[in-house]
Amino acid sequence: MFIVFKNFKSVFCYLLIFTVLFGANAFFSFNNQIVTASPIDKFCVVLDAGHGGIDGGCQGSTGVYERDINLNICNYVADLLNQININVVKTRETQDGLYGVFASGFKMRDLTERKRIIEQSNADLVVSIHLNSFPNPKARGAQVYYALNSDISVKLATLMQDLFVKNLSNARKSCLPGDFYILNCTDKPGVLIECGFLSNVEEEALLVTQEYQQKIAYQIYCAIFSYFGLSSN
Ligand SMILES: [Zn+2]
Repeated sequence: MFIVFKNFKSVFCYLLIFTVLFGANAFFSFNNQIVTASPIDKFCVVLDAGHGGIDGGCQGSTGVYERDINLNICNYVADLLNQININVVKTRETQDGLYGVFASGFKMRDLTERKRIIEQSNADLVVSIHLNSFPNPKARGAQVYYALNSDISVKLATLMQDLFVKNLSNARKSCLPGDFYILNCTDKPGVLIECGFLSNVEEEALLVTQEYQQKIAYQIYCAIFSYFGLSSN
């Protein structure tokens, strides 16, 4: 699109309209790369916040549940992707699970509903967000798992794990294959991210903060950005 500006005022008006349409962050850079300002609505990502409702997932010593931190991180990633007009489908938007009103057999109903949402979306990839727990309290570090038998899932997982290693303390050194229902239930490429260990007191102290949740979300966003070939590298 070519626009001839006759004076500074018209340039200012155009920038104002552009900012309203695409968000101020469209002008800014990250990782020393300039983000393209054009809409990228041809891509779609399913963001899956693990657990929900009576299924809290793992729990930290402070009483915090994985369920709630997963949702926060998912929402931060969604906000970032929306700013560059990548379409986002969330499997859940609230603290509730997806199993309906009955507790009996909730886990399978919850997972089946997540599968339905993934399959009915036109998503290019699935990103499932979880937190880890382990009997040894020293275990810590973010870890990315990729869908089995999927080379492009390996590509995304590698991009993401490398960013974790670079920008998060104590991240695991390399990504791993993941035999998880949420990845196996679809042919779409995908990763499951264990963003850290709630069983590690120091890591829990980081994971409960908005700042660290946003830091993780930003690495996930940058990896997705690169995966779609949107990097200026
Ligand atoms: Zn989990």
